[in-house]
Amino acid sequence: MYTRPVWAEISKTRLVEHYRILCDIAGPSADVLAIVKANAYGHDALQCAPILAAAGAKWLGVTCLEEALSVRKVCPQARILVMSGVWHGEAEAMIEHRLTPVVWEPLHLDLLHAAAEKIGSPAQSVAVHLEIDTGMSRQGVRSEQLSLLLDRFATASALRLEGVMTHFHSPEILDSDGTQRQIERFVTCLDIISARGLQPAWIHAGNSATLLVDRDRKALASIAGTRGARLMLRPGLALYGYVPRFSGTHDAATELQPVLAWKTRIISLRTIQPGEVAGYSATFQAVDPTRLALLPVGYADGLNRQLSNHGSVLIRGQHAPIVGRVSMDLTIVDVTDIPGATIGDEAVLIGEQDGSRITAYDLSDLAQTIPYEVLCAIGVRVPRVITG
Ligand SMILES: *Cc1c(COP(=O)(O)O)cnc(C)c1O
Repeated sequence: MYTRPVWAEISKTRLVEHYRILCDIAGPSADVLAIVKANAYGHDALQCAPILAAAGAKWLGVTCLEEALSVRKVCPQARILVMSGVWHGEAEAMIEHRLTPVVWEPLHLDLLHAAAEKIGSPAQSVAVHLEIDTGMSRQGVRSEQLSLLLDRFATASALRLEGVMTHFHSPEILDSDGTQRQIERFVTCLDIISARGLQPAWIHAGNSATLLVDRDRKALASIAGTRGARLMLRPGLALYGYVPRFSGTHDAATELQPVLAWKTRIISLRTIQPGEVAGYSATFQAVDPTRLALLPVGYADGLNRQLSNHGSVLIRGQHAPIVGRVSMDLTIVDVTDIPGATIGDEAVLIGEQDGSRITAYDLSDLAQTIPYEVLCAIGVRVPRVITG
């Protein structure tokens, strides 16, 4: 049971609406894989994954086996793509729970082959997706090593090359040479794969930005189409209501609204006099009589400490500046200009209140990070409540 007044509200309506909008943009010839890794970017994968599955998502994307197993419990039918390879001790569970690993290291194939043999998996029964490193130099097989890896997909093998994917390093830079070059390398590798007589059912690439940029999405659709495969697109951030920041995204992207609101309440108030200080290391000193409100939320909940003396929260529709250092479990805000602020008042860290709003972008700008990190940082101690 949660009684501490700190919580995150997850709008089911917005999440479902976003999934539909992204499917519409992707079009009938492409599939949308809903990324729910990292606890659905802090939105609670156990609650969001079934909502997305019920909205029609046939594919869900997670990082690792642990995430996949917890999503499998609540989404028995979904296809689950496990995007960070296979590690020792994981391959049997991958097969038994019908998970679809992304592979690129010979080790991944060794582990899966050994597990398939032990379980007695029939030929071609274990679907895997092969990632190609087309230029991000992070994960994926490099083109020089591709042929050697493809030797492992003989017809008698338990493994079936069901998908081929890559990831772009700068998808949010419109008309980026980088993306163009990566797409070209992807095509070269897809040709090598076709020449070996392998025909993946899905070809996929990129992220939210890739889905929202007409040119890249259309280029990928044609690449998949000419190879008799379906295109799959893999949005994460856009599902949760944040559009990558660049112009040139699809018009429908303006309809996306933050899915998560993060809220707390005032639990204490005091007025300090000129010269008095507030918080650790006395980084705030009052010049005038100052009314301070205490919020039961801190960096242990994921409120970035860079917001100390920097950020604000919404109380009664107005911005109340954070004063002093954000503590582990507590934060002080200035409510001098918000007459009537009282114990029990709702304070919005991310979200909307009486026509004002704070987004994860606002916090990420102040904390010099990205909205992904702001959302992922919201702690496990903060209960996620599904709203309409
Ligand atoms: C996280 C991730 C995505 C989604 O990225 P967004 O920028 O959140 O849309 C897509 N593909 C891969 C491989 C990822 O790891």
